[in-house]
Amino acid sequence: MARRKKKTDTRQRKISMQTENQETRSIRIPMIAAKYIAGTLCLLTVLLMGVFCYYRQASHMAIADQAELETLRKSNDVQVNEIAQLSRVTIGLQADMERLNSLDAEIRHILNNEDLKNTSRAGLIRPSVTGTSQYKPQEQLNLDELNHVVDDLQVAVKVREQSLEELKQQLLDKQRKIAAKPSIWPARGEVTSRFGWRSLGGGEYHPGIDIANNIGTPIVATGDGQVVYSDWDSGGYGKLVKIDHNNGIVTLYGHTSQIVVHNGENVKKGQVIAYVGNTGYSTGPHVHYEVRVNGTAVNPASFLN
Ligand SMILES: [Zn+2]
Repeated sequence: MARRKKKTDTRQRKISMQTENQETRSIRIPMIAAKYIAGTLCLLTVLLMGVFCYYRQASHMAIADQAELETLRKSNDVQVNEIAQLSRVTIGLQADMERLNSLDAEIRHILNNEDLKNTSRAGLIRPSVTGTSQYKPQEQLNLDELNHVVDDLQVAVKVREQSLEELKQQLLDKQRKIAAKPSIWPARGEVTSRFGWRSLGGGEYHPGIDIANNIGTPIVATGDGQVVYSDWDSGGYGKLVKIDHNNGIVTLYGHTSQIVVHNGENVKKGQVIAYVGNTGYSTGPHVHYEVRVNGTAVNPASFLN
């Protein structure tokens, strides 16, 4: 039995090269070796390319990381400065709030009268922000402290707003009372009869003052109020206007020639309500002006400015 010889690639590759003497020399390399060499070279090339790509990518990532780190550092610096600035501003606000508290208390002290007694306590509520006033404007707070101060400020602002709102209402009430007080003259003219007894010998009692002037001279409301009577009075006042100023104060304007307001109308201090006349029990053109407090006639002069 003939042994089969293992078939091997016996082909050869001829590599020719020229020498210095222009002689051509040839090297014969077995085909399989040539294939191995070529394969190895391919593999090396791929490997080198891979390494090159990896290095390039890694290098790009490192550059990007570095840039990002720089950006973050800058951003961090900016934020640190901003927090410092915010902290200074907040401490400044805290100081402003302290001054507002003092101002509020001062205003209440100035207005401290019967009207304000009931509400003055609200204005004395010292918000907890005053307890954190140990910070000075040049100090820098950390974020926790900053949050604490801001929380305190929020509470303080609400308390102060409520307090100022109460003060506003009290001032408006006071203003309304001042406006309602019959404090001006009802008409220009000459006072022909004062309040009280007309003569020492037990004469007639005069419950108001008489101001004489020409018929048609305007008569004005001496304070804000509501007209409660605007009609003929059979008791001697003639054409009469009565104005209610609240707090038990009513003013009367008698003997007028013409009334220009109606019953129930709200009038302002200084508003024309009628004109001087000579109606009712009157001996000449004048306005009889009377002020009653809880139904009793008082001297109008005590209300006049
Ligand atoms: Zn009179």
